[in-house]
Amino acid sequence: MTLAPDAIISGLKALLGEAGVIADPTAMTTYLTEPRKRFRVPAVAVALPADVAALQALCRWANANRVPLIPQSGNTGLVGGQVPLSGNEVVVNISRLNRVREVNAAAGHMTVEAGLILDEAHKVAEAAGAMFPLWLASQGSARIGGVLSSNAGGVQVLAFGNARELTLGVEAVLADGRLYNGLNALKKDNTGYDLKDLFVGAEGTLGFITAATVKLFPIPEAQETALVNVASPEMALELFYMLRERTGSRLTAFELMNRFGVDLQLRHGLLARDPTASVSPWYVLAEVNRMKGGVPGALQAALEEALGAGLVTDAVVAESEADRTLMWAAREQMSEVQSKEGASIKHDVSVPIGAVPQLIAEGTAAVERVIPGVRPCPFGHMGDGNIHFNFSQPVGEDPKAFMAREKDANAAIYEVVQRLGGSVSAEHGIGQLKRDLLKELKDPVALDMMRAIKAALDPNGIMNPGKVL
Ligand SMILES: Cc1cc2nc3c(=O)[nH]c(=O)nc-3n(C[C@H](O)[C@H](O)[C@H](O)COP(=O)(O)OP(=O)(O)OC[C@H]3O[C@@H](n4cnc5c(N)ncnc54)[C@H](O)[C@@H]3O)c2cc1C
Repeated sequence: MTLAPDAIISGLKALLGEAGVIADPTAMTTYLTEPRKRFRVPAVAVALPADVAALQALCRWANANRVPLIPQSGNTGLVGGQVPLSGNEVVVNISRLNRVREVNAAAGHMTVEAGLILDEAHKVAEAAGAMFPLWLASQGSARIGGVLSSNAGGVQVLAFGNARELTLGVEAVLADGRLYNGLNALKKDNTGYDLKDLFVGAEGTLGFITAATVKLFPIPEAQETALVNVASPEMALELFYMLRERTGSRLTAFELMNRFGVDLQLRHGLLARDPTASVSPWYVLAEVNRMKGGVPGALQAALEEALGAGLVTDAVVAESEADRTLMWAAREQMSEVQSKEGASIKHDVSVPIGAVPQLIAEGTAAVERVIPGVRPCPFGHMGDGNIHFNFSQPVGEDPKAFMAREKDANAAIYEVVQRLGGSVSAEHGIGQLKRDLLKELKDPVALDMMRAIKAALDPNGIMNPGKVL
């Protein structure tokens, strides 16, 4: 049996001091309010350990007393993994573990603590003359521990991979307080199971990530960026294959959006006029890195060829950093402008890249059958096969009536995703939002293996209980 709330609070204070514990409900609010405000459950307290040793002591005590702990970093997660589920948990925010332990730009790695804000990690790398290529719209608040635990992606996954592929080593505190020191900068290490990968993407269910060694890359000399008109997702796919052939791993982004998305930008966002000379049903934002000594104009040349081959109908290449920033700002504003158009139903799904056009066609038709008049707004990382498959409410419809059909719309999309061999969570994870869905859709043997790993590392079930599994 777990301790009473008062006993938990005094136990925490004895371990972490007054400065390391927040028990006042008002002061806890910022730690309990997640970005989409879908989950509003109180916590017993918020704990803020000052260092790894304090976190170890906290875990030892919580494990002995069966006190459930919720790891939290920047609190930007979108599936409710970092906030309470039942109200008897302690949220453990690791923002005070924010030191930079080592940077070796030439060798291409740095070791930082889990509480370092992603933007700060970018700055640390840049100051040393290197790049940490994980860019998310939430990077001003998201922290390394949360980014790794949710295996975040972003806009350059195409070239550099998601958090998992950028992680060389992990240090973690286990549920019983032991420290797993998996920090290393090895590209090759075949000494048994890849334990760091257990923690990356585990959403705090197996232990606390306290530090990580991540990959750094040379800073490109320039980026060539273009917004391209394409007639359909099929044409976008052909363009993707062609650009990849011409530019290889220098192709860092290939983002898709439809005309409705651009209309939303024009109505509610940063765009004052149409981004290209002619109106198009679909647009691609493509970017190519140019390294030191590289020849300029690779993207322009490839797009001219694509124009000649009839793959694209128009294109505008950024001529200045301001042009580029505007193109990206428009892309990154998509969620925000959509929210100004009324209620929306959202899906973060992936399929093999070749199936993206089919996903969009069949997913759109399926949801239109469920909600006539719905306005599809699919956008995102087409180059990774990952589409944020969103839908805006029909014009004039009551938002509540629209959202009442969310479950049916979800079922329609997930049926298509499953049939195409895709995933119902490409970037954001499972948390509490998609837990029941995982139970329903994931291979039962895979679920058994996940439960066995959880039971082995957290036999008392104190790590983020009820999340993911
Ligand atoms: C505006 C916006 C844009 C976003 N864009 C993207 C995007 O492009 N790509 C993408 O993949 N995601 C995106 N996200 C969601 C993304 O998951 C988070 O932004 C980020 O990766 C989470 O980091 P965080 O520090 O906020 O983690 P939190 O929200 O604090 O936690 C996320 C999960 O990790 C666990 N966790 C946190 N810290 C630790 C730790 N130290 N040890 C173990 N477990 C831990 C938590 O329990 C929770 O399950 C976006 C979110 C927002 C609000």
